[in-house]
Amino acid sequence: MSKCLVAGCRSTNRSEGITLHRFPKDKTELEVWSSNLNVNVSAVRDRSLVCSTHFRESDFVHTPNGSYILAT
Ligand SMILES: [Zn+2]
Repeated sequence: MSKCLVAGCRSTNRSEGITLHRFPKDKTELEVWSSNLNVNVSAVRDRSLVCSTHFRESDFVHTPNGSYILAT
């Protein structure tokens, strides 16, 4: 079962209405995500996931492949 990395968050891939997202591979983007999500960059692994509850439409945009990126 996949789980959200954010401390205190109990969302999993089985949670109703929740989607899980990979962190960006780009280091700069990753650092922005980490600070927005209050997650330590060093805790982020290749397969780490963050759930959709931490995103706001105003902060992130959907890409055609279905992932989220930060709107800069
Ligand atoms: Zn979460």
